[in-house]
Amino acid sequence: MEIAQLGNPVLRSIAVPISNVWERRVQKLTDDLIATAMETNGVGIAAPQVAQSDRLFILASRPNLRYPKAPKMEPEAIINPKIIARSDEVVKDWEGCLSVPGIRGLVPRSSTIEVEYTSRDGKLHRQEFADFVARIFQHEYDHLEGIVFLDRVETTRDLMSEDEYQKMVIVSC
Ligand code: ZN
Repeated sequence: MEIAQLGNPVLRSIAVPISNVWERRVQKLTDDLIATAMETNGVGIAAPQVAQSDRLFILASRPNLRYPKAPKMEPEAIINPKIIARSDEVVKDWEGCLSVPGIRGLVPRSSTIEVEYTSRDGKLHRQEFADFVARIFQHEYDHLEGIVFLDRVETTRDLMSEDEYQKMVIVSC
């Protein structure tokens, strides 16, 4: 699917709750988002990033260079999510986004969160996420609120080009 990029108004809109997870359109969108996340090697993607203003995103953590201990998850559809509680502890780490190509930013996020969401089979889940998965969740949740990670960096000095980021990751690993 084509990715909406920074400047596209859909990335600045508040996404609309999904009323029926069984709707054909919703199930198809879920499949398409999972396929797009896999193709782009992403660990998450939100519906507004493919120009669909729905409260739905995919969480697909897996180990990577920066987070070798990240859990490997089957891609999970997160529908109508709520963040119920956030840890006081906030950690800054690097993020990127398919909708903001070529740039990485150091973003402060709560290290653990307690959330509620519906999965694609209609089940309601209440769960705690920590570290890398909590970071992805908060990043994707922001997309549903019209927020991108650039809005959360504390200073423009916390931005880096993708090329420089790759050099840093390789050196630090
Ligand atoms: Zn993003």
